[in-house]
Amino acid sequence: MPELVVAGGGAAGFMAAITAAEAGLQQVQIWEATAEPLAKVRISGGGRCNLTHACWDPAELVANYPRGEKPLRGPFSRFAAGDAVAWFSERGVDLHEEADGRMFPTSNSSATVVDALRRRAEAVGVELHSQRALQAVQPLASGGFALKGRGLGQPLHCAKLLLATGGHPSGRQLAQALGHRVIAPVPSLFTLRLDGKFLRELAGVSQGLVPLELHVGAEIFRQRGTVLITHWGLSGPALLRLTAFAARALHQNQYRAELRVDWTAGADPQILQQQLRQARLDLARKQLANGRPELLLAIKKRLWLALLKQAQLDAA
Ligand SMILES: Cc1cc2nc3c(=O)[nH]c(=O)nc-3n(C[C@H](O)[C@H](O)[C@H](O)COP(=O)(O)OP(=O)(O)OC[C@H]3O[C@@H](n4cnc5c(N)ncnc54)[C@H](O)[C@@H]3O)c2cc1C
Repeated sequence: MPELVVAGGGAAGFMAAITAAEAGLQQVQIWEATAEPLAKVRISGGGRCNLTHACWDPAELVANYPRGEKPLRGPFSRFAAGDAVAWFSERGVDLHEEADGRMFPTSNSSATVVDALRRRAEAVGVELHSQRALQAVQPLASGGFALKGRGLGQPLHCAKLLLATGGHPSGRQLAQALGHRVIAPVPSLFTLRLDGKFLRELAGVSQGLVPLELHVGAEIFRQRGTVLITHWGLSGPALLRLTAFAARALHQNQYRAELRVDWTAGADPQILQQQLRQARLDLARKQLANGRPELLLAIKKRLWLALLKQAQLDAA
C-alpha cells in the first residue's frame, strides 16, 4: 500500500512527492489527470520559468503575497527563496538573477526545471501515474483512504493523501467532501477595462513609476510601477499587482471601482505648480508639445500630447 498519494502532477505535487520520498516515505505516487505532468511549469515565465525572486528575507518576501502575508510566515521561515535556489542548484539547476530580482534557470528554458523535477522524482522512487484523475476519496475506519481513480478498476488504499490539484475545481470538491472548509476563489491578477476613451488611442504606451490608487467602496489599494496602456484599458506589472491585492474587495463590490493614475510619477503638486508657472515664463516661445517642466519630462511624448488634448490645451 502506498504511504502517500499526491493528487496533481504540477510544481506543487512534484515538490511534495520528492520531499516526502527524500524524507523516507515508502511507495510515494503522483496521480496526474492529464497526459502531461508539469504542463504549467513548461509554459511559465514565457517558457523560461521565473523560478523564484532574489528576496532573501522571509519577512519581506511575505509582503508580496496578497492575503498570504500572515499564513506564509511559518512556511517561509522553513523554506524561502534562498532555500529554493539551493534546492534546485543541488539538483542540477543553476539560476541567474535579472535586474528586477526575478530568477530564471541559466538555460533560460523551463524544460530544464521540468527535466530536473522529473529526474529527481524518478531517482527517489516516486511512481508517476499520468492520465489518472482522482475522482473520489473515502476515509477508512482503520486509517488512511480508499481512492477512486479514472481508469483504475479497483479503489486503491493509501495511508496519506496530499491534494495538489492547483486551481482545478476537483481538488476543492474533494477537500470539501472530506470536511475541509474551502474559501471560494475569485479572479486575481487581471487587467482593467476603462471607460475613458482617450487612453485607448495610446495602446502600446508603457509608463514607469506610476503611482496607482484603486478606491473600492471604503477601501483604498495602492501600487507604484510600470503601467501599460492597452486598447481596452490598462495593464502592466503595477496594474496586475493592484488587482491581485484588491481581488476580494473588487469581487465584493461587483467590480465597480475608481482608479486614480498619477502620470507625474508622484510629483509634489505644489512644486509642480511652481514649475508650471515658471515654465509659462521660461518657455513662453515654445509649443506645449515640446516645452514642459522638468517634473513632467519623463512622461512619454504620445501620452503627454494626449493629456494636453484631454485638458483641451493646444499642443502646437
Ligand atoms: C501563463 C502562465 C505563466 C506563469 N509563469 C510563472 C512563472 O514564471 N513563475 C511562477 O512562479 N509561476 C508562474 N505561473 C504560475 C504557476 O504556473 C502556478 O502557480 C503553478 O503552476 C501552480 O502549481 P500547482 O502545482 O499548484 O498547480 P498546477 O500547475 O495547476 O498543477 C495541478 C495539476 O493537478 C492536475 N489535476 C487537477 N485535478 C486533478 C485530479 N482530480 N486528479 C489528478 N490530477 C489533477 C492538473 O492536471 C495539473 O497538472 C504562471 C502561470 C501561467 C498560467
